[in-house]
Amino acid sequence: MTIPSEINVAIIGAGAAGLGAAHALRRSRLSCIVLEARERIGGRGYTIMAAPDVVFDVGCGWLHSANRNSFVKIAEALNFEINRDLPPWRERAYGNAFPQKDRDDFIRSLDAFFHRAEEAAKSGRDAPADTCLEPDNRWNPMIDAISTYINGVELDHVSLLDLDAYEDTNLNWRVRRGYGALMAAYGGSLPLALNCMVTLIDHSGRRLRVETSQGTLTADMVIVTVPTDLIADEAIRFHPSLPDKVDAAKNLPLGLADKVVLALDEPEALPKEGNLRGATMRAEMGTYHLRPFGQPCIEGFFGGRFARALEDAGDGAIAATSIDEIVSFLGNNFRRKLRPLKESRWAHDPFARGSYSHALPGHAGKRVVLAAPVDGRLFFAGEATSPNFFTTAHGARDSGERAAREVLAALSAK
Ligand SMILES: Cc1cc2nc3c(=O)[nH]c(=O)nc-3n(C[C@H](O)[C@H](O)[C@H](O)COP(=O)(O)OP(=O)(O)OC[C@H]3O[C@@H](n4cnc5c(N)ncnc54)[C@H](O)[C@@H]3O)c2cc1C
Repeated sequence: MTIPSEINVAIIGAGAAGLGAAHALRRSRLSCIVLEARERIGGRGYTIMAAPDVVFDVGCGWLHSANRNSFVKIAEALNFEINRDLPPWRERAYGNAFPQKDRDDFIRSLDAFFHRAEEAAKSGRDAPADTCLEPDNRWNPMIDAISTYINGVELDHVSLLDLDAYEDTNLNWRVRRGYGALMAAYGGSLPLALNCMVTLIDHSGRRLRVETSQGTLTADMVIVTVPTDLIADEAIRFHPSLPDKVDAAKNLPLGLADKVVLALDEPEALPKEGNLRGATMRAEMGTYHLRPFGQPCIEGFFGGRFARALEDAGDGAIAATSIDEIVSFLGNNFRRKLRPLKESRWAHDPFARGSYSHALPGHAGKRVVLAAPVDGRLFFAGEATSPNFFTTAHGARDSGERAAREVLAALSAK
């Protein structure tokens, strides 16, 4: 679709937030277009066929807090099969690399850490989340590894109050055909312009001027949904500038999580839906999902500084490290059974620049600042603006719907 010269509402970004906003405005009389820099929709939700028999979510894969996840109803309405099996993260570690007794001890220490964090947050005083680690607990590095998976960074960079604000209902489901595929279907019928990168939003005049790689359009209102690092780095600029937004975005940076999928020959040798990880006693470790949905593959997950170093080492480094680590757990004859299919590089993705946002210590309040409308004309959505489901796809989608409601409220107030 080519872009019109005038529109009521321009939505920037066709990730979960932008699609949620566009759907909510569809029922109004407003003309609306989603401007997307990539050649596809979904943003950090992206499903590929890594092999003819392997569906792989390069970005989000789990319907977190599934009983409060708005994508569940959408999946049902679009006939996307939902898998409600519990994930294998906690109890189901495979093999001898992490013996049961150690695993139980680790889970106890992990739960105790989260309990201490919850108690400490009640004071209302913020601090780096690593202050809630028990000094000298032998599992501290692995608790930090878990932080790199859920926050994208180590605990010393995480605001305790922000960590506490996240609502986890401990129910995690999956979409058999892929979360990214679900987003693509959800957004398929919306008015969209792809390959349309927005560079400037000029809000100095009576109408908003939006400069894009496909030309300029004017709009009454704009909803911005791009990831925080793009606002922080002023990859998308505002005129006049919005220093409060840039400051909020800088204090809600994206952490990094990366995934890899490896083809597995002779898959019967490993259980379906298993988890593999070692008692490595270090934060630099992968965690592996064996044969998700029974597929002939292993998915690996890496986070934080370790993921960043592997991305920086170049394409293929995540797969090579995964294979070495899996072989160290399962034995050398597994090396010939594993073949790299695909690995993500979210930090090097120019339209993401990372995986999901965390608040730096002392800055938990910045999510509200980032979400706040400006002049009743500029509105902000995206996972980083969600008060309780930040980092997630459904939190992003719901934030888009919230921004759409703000647009409608601003119009009716005029
Ligand atoms: C590896 C990984 C695993 C994850 N796992 C899960 C999970 O299991 N469950 C879960 O719920 N969440 C998970 N997430 C997080 C989830 O994917 C995101 O929180 C969510 O998709 C963010 O949606 P969004 O709309 O806020 O942003 P995005 O999806 O990033 O959408 C923003 C859009 O803006 C576009 N854009 C950027 N700049 C411009 C510009 N200048 N002009 C026009 N368009 C622009 C981008 O291309 C993008 O399409 C994961 C993420 C990653 C990376």
